[in-house]
Amino acid sequence: MRPFELQTAGNPSDAIRKSQDASRAQSGARYLAGGTNLLDLMKLEVLTPRMLVSLKQLRSDLGAIESDEDGLRLGAMVRMAEAADHPIIRRDYPVIADALRLAASAQLRNMASLGGNVLQRTRCQYYRDTSWRACNKREPGSGCQAITGVNRRLAVLGVSEHCIANYPGDFAIALVMLGAELDILDSAAAPRTIAFEDLHRSPGDTPHLEINLQPADLITSIRIPAGPWTRRSRYVKVRDRASYDFALASAAVALDLAADGRVRSARIGLGGLVARPWRAVEAETVLNGRVLDESAAQQAAEAAFAGAVVHSDTGFKPELGRRTLVRALLETAQLEVSA
Ligand code: SF4
Repeated sequence: MRPFELQTAGNPSDAIRKSQDASRAQSGARYLAGGTNLLDLMKLEVLTPRMLVSLKQLRSDLGAIESDEDGLRLGAMVRMAEAADHPIIRRDYPVIADALRLAASAQLRNMASLGGNVLQRTRCQYYRDTSWRACNKREPGSGCQAITGVNRRLAVLGVSEHCIANYPGDFAIALVMLGAELDILDSAAAPRTIAFEDLHRSPGDTPHLEINLQPADLITSIRIPAGPWTRRSRYVKVRDRASYDFALASAAVALDLAADGRVRSARIGLGGLVARPWRAVEAETVLNGRVLDESAAQQAAEAAFAGAVVHSDTGFKPELGRRTLVRALLETAQLEVSA
């Protein structure tokens, strides 16, 4: 790991000012929240900031979980474990509790912040190992080793000819499916709100540009709107081993069903095999107004993966993704949901 300066922010405005000062001095600052992904990448020398601005004293400003009739608000410094275990989230937004509970390990969930979690980087091995030269995400214009290399864990939806890396997180898949929004303070400490689906960029021909945030932008909270679908929601994750592993395929589903079982509204997010948190709008459309039986679920899954692009080791992934989505849809439809 390269040497770096550590500063501690006393409040959100102080954090932004310290980050701005570092940018003006061309020091390259990053915010340090839980640190579970950032410090990893600094040890690997994939990321080499010269300053970290610690947010650990911002827990009182950004550490609340609040719920009302408009929805759920999660402070960016809430720990993953706190949200996963929160009784209101478990009852009213079970897909969020599931996605957090199935992510990482208990130790990491006790450390990692929600704001940091949504910004985690791909696990593409060529990105994380600097001895590989060709990686457009790490070194723009250098090529993509993964396209002709080992790519079993990488993406089939949203990829480009310049990068096939997958977004590895679980929580973000639930957020994009539920139509979440992010509250942000910009470099002048002015607030703005963006749709969560606009946070991550598709790789296109600039895979090194991963998010639509400026360096000093600080995520302060995540807001999830209330809706008749949130209680009937579920996250299904398929992975090589049953614990402490990233998804090969995952599906986040929320349903609003009429009394006769027909779908009033279906929301579908896909993970594990996607370049960015993915909402499967075409699949949702297939289900509208239908009884959600196995035939309808399979047609939705076909629509969800119609645009999949496979490489040498990822030929199995569209079928795995379809089966994961069918299972998630049928299990969600059968959930017992209290009024
Ligand atoms: Fe780099 Fe993306 Fe290619 Fe992986 S898939 S080597 S992250 S350019």
